Amino acid sequence: MRKAQLYRYRLPMDSGVVLRDKKLTEREGWVVELIENDRRALSEISPLPGWSEETLDEAYLEARRYLHAWIDTGRFELHMASPSVAFGLSMAELELHGELPEEGNFISAPLCTGDPDELLPRLAKLQGEKVAKVKVGLYEPVRDGMLVNLFLESIPDLKLRLDANRTWTTEQADKFAQYVKPAYRQRISFIEEPCAKPGQSLTFGINNGIAIGWDETLQEAVREPNFDLSQLTGAKAIVIKPSLIGSVTKCQYLVEQAKALNLKAVISSTLETSIGLTQLARFARWLTPLDVPGLDTLDLFQQQLHTPWPGSELPIATLDSQELVLSL
Ligand SMILES: [Mg+2]
Repeated sequence: MRKAQLYRYRLPMDSGVVLRDKKLTEREGWVVELIENDRRALSEISPLPGWSEETLDEAYLEARRYLHAWIDTGRFELHMASPSVAFGLSMAELELHGELPEEGNFISAPLCTGDPDELLPRLAKLQGEKVAKVKVGLYEPVRDGMLVNLFLESIPDLKLRLDANRTWTTEQADKFAQYVKPAYRQRISFIEEPCAKPGQSLTFGINNGIAIGWDETLQEAVREPNFDLSQLTGAKAIVIKPSLIGSVTKCQYLVEQAKALNLKAVISSTLETSIGLTQLARFARWLTPLDVPGLDTLDLFQQQLHTPWPGSELPIATLDSQELVLSL
């Protein structure tokens, strides 16, 4: 006996959430429920506006087609599926077969904005490496450089992951680097995408002795048919956002390739609800047990959905409160 359902979820976001210059007041997506004999599994399909190529509606039409086939055959053939659909459905299948280990890495690199004192209690929770993430490129490069110095000066064993989201020109990036004390540069684990073009980011990294990481560059490169991670040389880390990459198998392969190339692989979210986020925490623990994942995004929501994130005090919306759109 097989059953499949799809819900359309809508969750209110915290007031200040901005995505590629657009305010995001509500997060929308699909929750998949698979039932086979006495087993039940949930997962989500959540294309991210401005990042995913597939729209919400396209993802729905695809998912519906794959779910019909699954009812008939008990299998998903996801080679042609959009990344968010491929990841969501393969994750549901993994859960259904009890193949995703329960234990999760629920302690992410905290996202911090200004005050080192606020960061201290959150860092105390991290076991092992003390690592925090700071978004740069939103203000003057000089301010960012000074802020990075301040964090690294105040907390002597802290390491930072920075993310500039391609906002800097090479001049701005160099200006930032000038303000970071040379002795601190090694404690920047990596900076994601400092410049508009990957080549500029590489040059920046070499000239300033600061490690760089690929996020947007990776997400774009994996869409190429003959993609090979070894083409993305020169970086120290890659940020893997499964909803932008594809199936569980594809993500696993990417992590293996990264290990072989001595690249740090950081499993990160694309604003999944607590259903998808807890699965990503378990996925991260399973695939990259030694690396702190980038999943500190739950507090951008006003509510969790169905699955509680350990330690979160946000209210939990039930699945029943969301719209059931397909029942097979
Ligand atoms: Mg990034």
